Amino acid sequence: MQTISILGSTGSIGTQSLEVAKKHNIRIKALAAHSNAKLLAEQVRQTGAEYACIYNEEKLPELEEALNGCDTKLLTGMEGLKEIAALDGVDKLLNSVVGMVGLEPTLTAIEAGVDIALANKETLVAGGELVMKRAAEKGVHIYPVDSEHSAIFQCLQGNKAEQVRGIILTASGGPFYGKTKVDLKDVTVEQALDHPNWSMGSKITIDSSTLMNKGLEFIEAMRLFDLRPEQIEIVVHRQSVVHSAVCYNDSSVIAQMGVPDMKIPIQYALLYPDRFECPTRPLSLTDYGTLTFAKPDFDTFDCLTACIKAAGEGGILPAAVNGANEVAVRAFLDGRIKFLQIGEIVTHVLGNTENRPQDSLETVLAADRAARDFAEREIERLSN
Ligand code: NDP
Ligand code: MG
Repeated sequence: MQTISILGSTGSIGTQSLEVAKKHNIRIKALAAHSNAKLLAEQVRQTGAEYACIYNEEKLPELEEALNGCDTKLLTGMEGLKEIAALDGVDKLLNSVVGMVGLEPTLTAIEAGVDIALANKETLVAGGELVMKRAAEKGVHIYPVDSEHSAIFQCLQGNKAEQVRGIILTASGGPFYGKTKVDLKDVTVEQALDHPNWSMGSKITIDSSTLMNKGLEFIEAMRLFDLRPEQIEIVVHRQSVVHSAVCYNDSSVIAQMGVPDMKIPIQYALLYPDRFECPTRPLSLTDYGTLTFAKPDFDTFDCLTACIKAAGEGGILPAAVNGANEVAVRAFLDGRIKFLQIGEIVTHVLGNTENRPQDSLETVLAADRAARDFAEREIERLSN
């Protein structure tokens, strides 16, 4: 029987992971959330977790009250997340928090020699060079949870990494596929949150509508699978059935398919290499009938272009585009900026960041802070 801890247990990936864990009798050692004390407490009672961390300290009294009578050890803040990341007796840490905040716990788990099931893609975008280098040195495995990266990981099984020619990274295209900038001028938050295939947290749903998500995934794939930018082809595939593919030297292409349900990649990351029954529906290709493939529209989706530029240059630029985007998405969700301004801000921050090598956690955190400050000033200017 496996034991895991989950950071971000109250979110979309976190709750689906608990469902998978329950089905396969995976023990839960620790859980963490940002502010949702009520759901976190329910999850602790249901799973018998020994540790619970609420990042937002102001919510601690609510968590204490909800867990009255339990002997769960309660933690808060970054220290709490890091304590959970390094706990003994855990087979895997599932990191499914949203945003850069996941980077330090990921590095802490690596230092402690804990394998990671990683959904938190911002970690690999901002600090991926550091993360992968340290994971290799410590012999820590990182199992991708993101569906495209899980697909690639699955298509690599039984083959030689050095015989990979490249990968096809599929993209649903999001809710605004086929639109031009003129069409997107007055997009509302509701329209941007209306994803055609996936039900996810609000940040990644906005990222999917701007194609920032695919840009982040481009960098995530480079880091996880040690690929050069020219080895990655992004293909828009509206049905989200082919989750990505690997192209080999002999021109054979191996793809992974399934219904769009995150429980499949979550379960693969947790149970690897086993493939037991998953709480989802089977794929019927004849129900779909037609699968379509198209090139992405780089002219309309500035965030995608910015990420690919940052990916090519490496260093701290991926952290800069990621930090700028996190702030811009928050501002869009709060009604402070317009949809197209997310891409403008990300591009502007990228253009104004002086690149440096990604040589330490401090460098990455400083690049992230600088990008956020720059983006905040831009938002201030645009909203006045
Ligand atoms: P959600 O917004 O649904 O959930 C985020 C989770 O992280 C919540 O549990 C939230 O707690 C928690 N959280 C946020 N900040 C902190 C913090 N500082 N400390 C502790 N917990 C924190 O996001 P998703 O589940 O959709 O996405 C999570 C990650 O997985 C993202 O990086 C996303 O890109 C990636 N991903 C998601 C997919 C999906 O289908 N949803 C698919 C592929 C990747 P609280 O509830 O208290 O706010
Ligand atoms: Mg994905």
